[in-house]
Order: sequence, then C-alpha cells, then structure tokens
Amino acid sequence: MSDQIAGPTPRMLILSGPAGAGKTTIVKKLLEAAPVSLEMSVSATTRAPRPNEVDGRDYYFLTREEFERRRAADEFIEWAEVHRSGHLYGTLKSEIQRIQQQKKWVLLEIDVEGAQNVMRLFPAALSVFLQTASMDEYERRLRDRGTETEEVILRRLRTAREELQYVASYKHRVINDDLERAVGEVRQLLASREAELNAG
Ligand code: 5GP
Repeated sequence: MSDQIAGPTPRMLILSGPAGAGKTTIVKKLLEAAPVSLEMSVSATTRAPRPNEVDGRDYYFLTREEFERRRAADEFIEWAEVHRSGHLYGTLKSEIQRIQQQKKWVLLEIDVEGAQNVMRLFPAALSVFLQTASMDEYERRLRDRGTETEEVILRRLRTAREELQYVASYKHRVINDDLERAVGEVRQLLASREAELNAG
C-alpha cells in the first residue's frame, strides 16, 4: 500500500530537530500562517497523553497492542521508538491520504529515524532540520522549560548529539536562535518549493 502513496507527493514538509529546539512553537506558527495550505499529520503513539492533549488532535493514543496490530497490518508509512523512551511513534498512511485528498501540504513533525524512511519513500519532500545555535543553548532551553527530570534532560542531550549525525540527510537546516526569523525561513522554503512545483 505504501507504493500507492509513495513518490508523487512533493507537497510534504518533514520537520525534525531535538526536543527543545522550538519545533512545537514553529509548527504552531506555520499552521497559523503559511504561504501554502498546510495540515499536520496526526501521529500515533503508545505514550500517555499529557494534560491538555486530546486524542485525535495531538496524537492517536494507542495501547502497545493496538499499535503492534496496526503495524502488522501495514498501516504505517514509518514508525520508530523515540528517545529510547520505550514508546513507539508512527505516521499512519490514512493521515497522509486524508491530507492529500484535500490537496494540502502534509506537515510531518517526526524524529530523525522516521524521517529517513519517509525521505526514502517521498524523495521529493521538503525536509528541514531545526536546531539551536549550540549544544549549550539547547541544554539551557531544555532546563528553562522546567518540565523534565534530570534523567530525561540527560537522555535528550545524548539523543540530540546522536541526531546531529543525521543533519546532512535533510535538504535544509534552520537555526532557531530567533523564532520569527526561523519561522520566516521555513515559510520562504515552502513558498519557493510551491513556486517551483507550479512552474514545472
Ligand atoms: P513527544 O512525546 O514530546 O510528543 O514527541 C517526542 C518525539 O516524537 C518528537 O521529537 C517527535 O518528532 C517524535 N514523533 C512524533 N510523532 C512521530 C511519528 O509519527 N513518527 C516518528 N518517527 N517520530 C514522531
């Protein structure tokens, strides 16, 4: 089934970067205003909802059994175990199809491992790696959030160092030291790619 939706889906934006690099804020701003019509693909996860998270809006919250069942039924275009948390995350084919049918850009906010698989399936997708200016700055932001335990912070820092190895596989890299500038850069990338697609 992935063969049916892979390939001719150039209107796709893959956004990755370490937790705390401002991904969530950037996604929110892009969804508020972008030069193209853009919709977020709602991922499935086995992790528990956080306060304020709504099933079907933020994620599809699945039990591990349900996730495994859907994975066996080939319902995902990609899945990964993220942050060594033991939790599974995945992009459902049905989400991509739902958004494509509306003729909108698909926004995927996924980890580096999942992104590699999506890039293979959708080589024409726009991919952006979002990063903070430095590891020190990244650590400061993670601590400023004040929501994570020391153990989680150290694990995320380790993951972020590992993720940096993947940067080269993304078509673009945006440094988020200034939020408005970073959002502006991503909007510009979308606009240029859309113009390119319309021209050719
Ligand atoms: P959180 O648990 O904080 O919402 O997300 C943790 C990480 O999971 C984020 O870095 C995000 O990029 C990643 N993630 C969310 N959805 C997916 C998905 O569908 N596939 C993959 N591979 N990663 C995902």
